[in-house]
Amino acid sequence: MSKVLVIGAGGVGSVAVHKMAMNADIFSHITLASRTKSKCDAIAASVRQRTGVAIDTAQLDADDVPATVALLKAVRPALVVNLALPYQDLNIMDACLEAGVNYLDTANYEPREEAKFEYSWQWAYQDRFRDAGLMALLGSGFDPGVTSVFATYTRKHLLDRIDTLDILDCNGGDTGLPFATNFNPEINLREVTAPSRHWENGQWIEGPALSHKQVFDFDQVGPKNMYLMYHEELESLAKFYPEIRRIRFWMTFGDSYLKHLEVLENTGMTRIEPMMFQGREIIPIEFLKALLPEPASLGPITRGKTNIGTIATGEKGGKARTVYVNNVCDHEEAYAETGNQAVSYTTGVPAMIGAALMLTGQWTGAGVFNMEQLDPDPFMDMLNRHGLPWKVRDLDAPLAF
Ligand code: NDP
Repeated sequence: MSKVLVIGAGGVGSVAVHKMAMNADIFSHITLASRTKSKCDAIAASVRQRTGVAIDTAQLDADDVPATVALLKAVRPALVVNLALPYQDLNIMDACLEAGVNYLDTANYEPREEAKFEYSWQWAYQDRFRDAGLMALLGSGFDPGVTSVFATYTRKHLLDRIDTLDILDCNGGDTGLPFATNFNPEINLREVTAPSRHWENGQWIEGPALSHKQVFDFDQVGPKNMYLMYHEELESLAKFYPEIRRIRFWMTFGDSYLKHLEVLENTGMTRIEPMMFQGREIIPIEFLKALLPEPASLGPITRGKTNIGTIATGEKGGKARTVYVNNVCDHEEAYAETGNQAVSYTTGVPAMIGAALMLTGQWTGAGVFNMEQLDPDPFMDMLNRHGLPWKVRDLDAPLAF
């Protein structure tokens, strides 16, 4: 029986809190805090209506470390689940250290002024968390998160050695809107406009953003164009699996999304550098975010499925083998269960699972951990039992380049 404090009342926070309430034997007391308290209260009302569980809510600016410490001291949770934005990661980690509370997130720290997507800042907290006897679990979403657990499971049970690993992220969902991002627009646009990068023979190979594509026929979705991209789990996979010769990440995008993105980029709307406009400083991508639909509002209008998985090549028992591990998640089913579409669902459920494993002592340790460092079996088991079932399939051939 454990108390948890969830920070961030977006789509991901909403799913995580709903799923925690459905597992009240593990999460005995839930507090949801965010910048806008009315969003926490709306989620609390939905949780109560769907599950009968009452949760507490609080207003919090998580960039204000003393305010977060004060809330932690008042609530006294065993764990903070950070589902705000990557900008808050270090401030929340600092507050956790000061208040003596464990920490979990789903996205690595990002400085506002530069799109980096790297773990260095959070890995630098290793000694402080270890010395305090606290655990920080980084990246317990789907990607990063489940994709690293799939790779770890593959290495533990399906292959004696992994030679290549491809992560395939397909969102076959359709909102009917000409342009919308399915998670926080600012973070999403920073991610897709960054140069592509993959790991090969011990080094990063960089290329222009969204310039390399291939078609892949996704189970229950159909053929889609997927594009080579950089994604943050590549860094932890390369660190913890030096045996893997090549690691790549692919994401599907529709032509309409890319057309809009090209125009927005060419007009400067995706820039993250501040500029002066009518006497005040604005950041173009923040202004654009304000114009785009909130991801949490897409739930009722999204149809279709997501299909995310890993294809690994290597050897098992002396024979070459290629294995595909993946999950398919239906947007409408996710919405019916939690009031949120599948992209929030596929992130919020793994956040709940990581939290459950920490609170029940199945995943323990002192220091900063990535998903690759922990036993995949209880996590894979919970995915099957909490709405994200996965399949393993042998493929005849590896993915082409
Ligand atoms: P949203 O933008 O929908 O929600 C973010 C929430 O955080 C909002 O409620 C926002 O408040 C709140 N917030 C922002 N700044 C602060 C602050 N300073 N203090 C307190 N609360 C704050 O995002 P999502 O729910 O889509 O995503 C949440 C996180 O999940 C992000 O970090 C995202 O990168 C990550 N993610 C990870 C994925 C994975 O697979 N690993 C996939 C998808 C997302 P307000 O409402 O006032 O703006």
